[in-house]
Amino acid sequence: MEENPRCKKCKRVLKSPISIVRGMGPKCAGVSTTRGKSVRARIIRSSGIAHQSVVSNQIQTPLFPGELPTKRLSKKDLYRLRREERRQSFEMRVPFQCGMLLPKRKPLVYTPLDDGSWKENPSGRVISHERLQEYLKQYRFI
Ligand SMILES: [Zn+2]
Repeated sequence: MEENPRCKKCKRVLKSPISIVRGMGPKCAGVSTTRGKSVRARIIRSSGIAHQSVVSNQIQTPLFPGELPTKRLSKKDLYRLRREERRQSFEMRVPFQCGMLLPKRKPLVYTPLDDGSWKENPSGRVISHERLQEYLKQYRFI
């Protein structure tokens, strides 16, 4: 039992993976869970040591990946988050980085063009939205 990860604020045992990643229960982190259906009263009742619901007026912690403490995120999680960010950037048509160009480790960046295509930097190559999407999916960048 004692190896269970605990909230660094109130020391209660953390149950949800997101709490474990954060190192804090939702209430101590100031994140509202009351709207979600994932937190059930029966979990708290059955264990008696689950994170207690406490009324809190704390400011909500943003759930963006950059705001989370990253020390507990596995490489796989980080990779997945980056992929997700990249996919969103692509869909919203904002510039995004797509790995490094070897051997000089220059960042490969795609910037959206007004005509709907993308410019690859630093090469300056212009790629259509569809072609880039195909490429990104093929190499699992998105
Ligand atoms: Zn706590």
